[in-house]
Amino acid sequence: MLAELKGLNEECGLFAIFGHERAAELTFYGLHALQHRGQQGAGIVTSNGEQLSIHKGVGLVNSIFNEQNLATLKGTSAIGHVRYATEEQSGFENVQPLLFRSQISSMALAHNGEIVNDFALRSQLEAQGSILQTTSDTEIIAHLIKRGGYLALEEAIKQALGMVKGAYAFVLLTEDQLFVALDPYGLRPLSIGKVDDAYVVASETCAFDLVGAEYVREVKPGELIVIDKNGLNSTMFASPMQRALCSMEYVYFSRPDSDLNGINVHASRKLMGKQLAKEASIEADVVTGVPDSSISAAIGYAEESGIPYELGLIKNRYIGRTFIEPNQSSREEGVKMKLSPVRGIVNGKRVVMIDDSIVRGTTSMRIVRLLKEAGATEVHVRIASPPIKNPCFYGVDTTASEDLLASQYSIEEMAEKIGADSLAFLSVEGLENALVDEDSIETGICKACFTGRYPTEIYPREVNANGKGAGA
Ligand code: AMP
Ligand code: SF4
Repeated sequence: MLAELKGLNEECGLFAIFGHERAAELTFYGLHALQHRGQQGAGIVTSNGEQLSIHKGVGLVNSIFNEQNLATLKGTSAIGHVRYATEEQSGFENVQPLLFRSQISSMALAHNGEIVNDFALRSQLEAQGSILQTTSDTEIIAHLIKRGGYLALEEAIKQALGMVKGAYAFVLLTEDQLFVALDPYGLRPLSIGKVDDAYVVASETCAFDLVGAEYVREVKPGELIVIDKNGLNSTMFASPMQRALCSMEYVYFSRPDSDLNGINVHASRKLMGKQLAKEASIEADVVTGVPDSSISAAIGYAEESGIPYELGLIKNRYIGRTFIEPNQSSREEGVKMKLSPVRGIVNGKRVVMIDDSIVRGTTSMRIVRLLKEAGATEVHVRIASPPIKNPCFYGVDTTASEDLLASQYSIEEMAEKIGADSLAFLSVEGLENALVDEDSIETGICKACFTGRYPTEIYPREVNANGKGAGA
């Protein structure tokens, strides 16, 4: 039921910089480092102190930007965005940042996440005369800010964010200021760094490494940061809640070289793999992982179990992530084009195959078949996260409930469906152990797609139409 009510998704990457002569160029590099977070579109807006310039397009960062168009992006501050989109929103009009020009001042916005009360806000804005041109949540935020009228921009932003419920990391650029905000639960990752004397902001710290920036700190849940010629000023627009950083960021999305909330992604995946080996051991000859996101967990599993890690599968580098293809048939072909078994390694062996997650089951089913065709005598599938049984309302495209394999079948049935000799998942406690310091409110994670316990109120769309919210 809830799945039908699922809103539009955005699981994207953000980068911003203030006070650097090479703002556009460094933003281009930052977006390049964040390319894995979205491959369907990208954009950069810069400011030279007097006006904003924009360039954006559909496709990969490298194909959208070149020396010529980067040279037109003048100024010392910039925001940039890489976009993941579902089929229904893959048009150019939804590519961010969105730029709004007005007589007094202009602003450009980009965000990562999903507003859960978007339907109610959209209806309210339309009833008050706003004409929304995109299906993007970012535009809703912009209209809410503009309704703040003659309030100082900082106050108008606070007022607007006070009305928005959900998961968002958000950057806004004007001619002379950069605003940065994170939702009160800190569902999405967002870090601050410094390069030379300039502040930088990014969804993942791997972007800092590429531009030579030093990590400074995380943006705090409920925090609104203003960066301008006077430096960085931090205020709160909402009381911070127990942090609920998306655990799928660690499991799958983020790059292994990123640190999220102070925890290195590769190290956390290794711990998940170790924990999985403790919880679900099996006799086997080799451990292998599905490249790239499961390699760290496979190394952890091998270390803990004492079964040697081997390169049983290789990935064709010249193809994107399977999920990025928005429909089922291209996703299935995507898996076939992407992975090949290493026959010399798996032939005649009992293989433990580690993957980071099962969503629809397409990947696991295909890989078990590949390994068996290559001569594996047994394939034991071990998943380094718990079963995903519930949809995500916070911008992660985990599909409708009825397509989630674990919401429809028992583990034994799933094993049979994917053709595995055995199947086991990491427990929710095991996941938490790898990521959470129990004494800190800052290291909490969202695990709602595993447990069904959503950290925020959820606003089903039909209910929203009547102007009432409801918990999930
Ligand atoms: P599936 O083939 O539908 O079971 O999807 C599982 C595969 O997709 C795993 O190998 C993951 O690496 C990857 N994956 C898991 N969750 C997501 C997500 N929300 N978006 C994109 N890819 C994902
Ligand atoms: Fe992440 Fe799952 Fe929470 Fe969505 S429901 S934010 S995918 S942990």
